[in-house]
Amino acid sequence: MPERTGILLLVSGPSGSGKTTLCRRLADEGEARYSTSCTTRPCRPGERDGHDYHFLSREEFEKKIAADEFLEHATVHCNSYGTLKSEVSGHLAMGRDVVMDIDVQGASLVRECQDACIRRALVDLFVMPPSEGELRARLTARNTDDEQTIALRMKNALEEMSHWSTYQYRLLSATREEDYTRFKSLLMAERLRVSRIHDEHTP
Ligand code: 5GP
Repeated sequence: MPERTGILLLVSGPSGSGKTTLCRRLADEGEARYSTSCTTRPCRPGERDGHDYHFLSREEFEKKIAADEFLEHATVHCNSYGTLKSEVSGHLAMGRDVVMDIDVQGASLVRECQDACIRRALVDLFVMPPSEGELRARLTARNTDDEQTIALRMKNALEEMSHWSTYQYRLLSATREEDYTRFKSLLMAERLRVSRIHDEHTP
């Protein structure tokens, strides 16, 4: 039996908040497993299938919905995104922590999930950009999207930010290093929760 149950660290925040970088770094340092989502959006330059996302056709995505393979799925910026149960459940049961980067709709679906293992594991965090101006600057600097896409992402970001108070935790973004220190501290603290520890360690 693992020493403790796994943590499902769910992270949301608008594009440009830096949430993906935080999640990836945690996974790269071996602290948690990154839940690779499925999406129907086209692969961006530099992205790898199976690493950044499982890039699926609309038909493939629909098939997975029909086969009940998703823990949650939602439409974001006109494309479908979904978390596969297989990216999450088995790992939690083995006592491994999983980090997932999903939008506010997906977060509310995961919160509604009746699976006891998911409910016990869930910790949710909203990453907030420091200001609207800084968010716009970050979205423009990424240089991956055209003007129209940036405008849509900005509009969606403002809507998404209105949901921050539905999360257990909020991280107001400052510098990359400060953000990461606070982010990792959250996981470290959650690992100490008595309710996650199996009592064979009681002296
Ligand atoms: P992007 O296309 O910029 O990678 O992601 C767009 C949005 O989709 C982000 O807010 C991201 O958090 C969200 N997203 C990524 N994967 C999933 C997922 O599996 N489910 C849901 N609901 N949203 C996701």
